[in-house]
Amino acid sequence: MRVLLPHDEREDVTLRPAATAKVWLGVGQNHETVAVPGVALGRHDVLVVIELSTVCGSDVHTVSGHRTAPAPLVLGHESVGRIIAVGEGGVEDAEGQTLRVGDRVVWSVTVSCGTCDRCTAGVGQKCRALAKYGHERIEPRWELTGGFATHAHLRAGTTIVRVPEALPAATLAPASCATATAWAALERASRTHALETARVLVLGAGLVGLSAVAIAADAGAAVTVVDPSPQRRAFAEKFGATALATPGENADIVIEASGHAVADALAAADVAGHVILVGSVFPAAPVGLEAESVVRRLLTISGVHNYTGRDLAGAAAFLAGRGRGYPFDEVVGAQYGLDDVDAALAAASAPGAPLRIAVNPR
Ligand SMILES: [Zn+2]
Ligand SMILES: [Zn+2]
Repeated sequence: MRVLLPHDEREDVTLRPAATAKVWLGVGQNHETVAVPGVALGRHDVLVVIELSTVCGSDVHTVSGHRTAPAPLVLGHESVGRIIAVGEGGVEDAEGQTLRVGDRVVWSVTVSCGTCDRCTAGVGQKCRALAKYGHERIEPRWELTGGFATHAHLRAGTTIVRVPEALPAATLAPASCATATAWAALERASRTHALETARVLVLGAGLVGLSAVAIAADAGAAVTVVDPSPQRRAFAEKFGATALATPGENADIVIEASGHAVADALAAADVAGHVILVGSVFPAAPVGLEAESVVRRLLTISGVHNYTGRDLAGAAAFLAGRGRGYPFDEVVGAQYGLDDVDAALAAASAPGAPLRIAVNPR
């Protein structure tokens, strides 16, 4: 349960024209527009004007009813924007540097308290008082909760990372979901294997998979990616992978990034291998586990869901640095205006859709 500050400890920010958010009401219904003429910023809160948001696969799963979500809800959790107001007490980025009005930023999908047992154990993405952008029923004083809006109200406990002006918005918007999740998966892999000498197999060449390919390849790993789509395989090669239609040789690190190839992932790990499950973020039939084989192969199996603030900072630094060598700016296939958010979601769920569809509120 979150505790809201009394109103006199909040800072009122008036917006003229009003901010607008697209509110999802349920499966089969078009979005409604909600106008938000003012925001009450609590201590360490931040108000951001959104430059660009991208549609994640989980937004598509929600609107198609493959997973349940509380409506009314502002979807979208992959965004880049610019700070236009900072609440009492100021706010710092992931490195402890003061953030200021005018900074271009990305922010974590999660809002964590920082003090509960899970936060202090380093798994703030599972905070006891967790809130998530793009996932919460809108409530009074916190309407601007998702990416499909002109503005986002970032609450204290959000990891905010400053990003360079020179990077394309299309590269940066997915940082707070796909890239940071891939970074978290490779961080987990690096606990058992040195990436520079590892054979890495990535199952699924969606944006999480492709990001994992680039991060692993850049670290020196020999990376193979498996995806049934010839277009995605061709694109994956530009990210540094050998691309196959079906798994070939076994690997030291197997990253399952599709949610559809868990059995293949378990089968493809070599002795002392590490299988990292990251794509299973929607309900699916259980997968059999051949326990004897897991034991005899000395396997490690990890689940990775979302990421820590440090992972987001690492992912953003990668995109701003060595990641420039990979075509992250080509992942957005089309942009839609905010009023066309229903069409954007339909385009993102169409067969053969590009890796990302963007929603541009400006
Ligand atoms: Zn996502
Ligand atoms: Zn917490």
